[in-house]
Amino acid sequence: MNKAIEIIDLIKDFGKIRAVDGTSFDVSEGEIFGLIGPNGAGKTTILRIISTLLQVTSGEVKVFDYDVTKDASEVRKLISYLPEDAGAYKNLTGKSYLTFIAKFFGNGKKVSEIVEKGVKIASLEERINDKVDTYSKGMMRRLLVGRALMIDPKLAILDEPTSGLDVINAQEVRHIIKDSTKRGTTVLLSSHNMLEVEFLCDTIALINEGKIVEEGKPQELKKKYNATNIEEVFIGVVQ
Ligand code: ATP
Repeated sequence: MNKAIEIIDLIKDFGKIRAVDGTSFDVSEGEIFGLIGPNGAGKTTILRIISTLLQVTSGEVKVFDYDVTKDASEVRKLISYLPEDAGAYKNLTGKSYLTFIAKFFGNGKKVSEIVEKGVKIASLEERINDKVDTYSKGMMRRLLVGRALMIDPKLAILDEPTSGLDVINAQEVRHIIKDSTKRGTTVLLSSHNMLEVEFLCDTIALINEGKIVEEGKPQELKKKYNATNIEEVFIGVVQ
């Protein structure tokens, strides 16, 4: 299977803080890969490096064979990144925001078709025509998930995609993420919701203090730790 992401011996220091400490893992094309781990473990740092927003200290990071440092502009054409704390231009309506983004990142595809898909994914009904600064936290998140997935990126990098969403909305967004793989998108996500990673992910990597300490398919991990769910696996590994 082709590799969507290949990470070898990645180290990232912020001054004296070693945020990522010799991490290696691969993400196969077409899969949903989940990064889990305690606060401060290094998840967001890894996602930002893959998104070309942070430089590596050392090691190799490739996206579909393109190096994130040397070929950053090629990598940017293939990815869509949903940051943990993203916002949108507050003076635009949801729909005009999606249109604005589609014009930038549409890669030559028809803007109206991309926006239509974004509107459908965001599923904000008539509120899509309201200004973004009137949205609740959950509505904003849905808009941003629409933004990230409407362009059918080769790789979607989603940092806590359902944070702030209620149970029903979170479940809908999970289905949207799963559906995106049917259109050829590979997904790398981070989450603190173990139910979510178990439902969504083909492979899970557990990161602690900048190191991958466990990796596998949810079923395999549960078996290995004699656990009934991934939360128990997490506690078993991290404690
Ligand atoms: P959380 O689950 O809390 O979002 P995380 O696993 O995403 O955590 P990171 O945000 O990657 O963790 O942080 C990893 C480490 O790197 C932490 O010790 C954090 O304080 C540090 N760090 C992250 N960004 C910076 C920065 N810009 N400057 C200095 N230190 C940073």
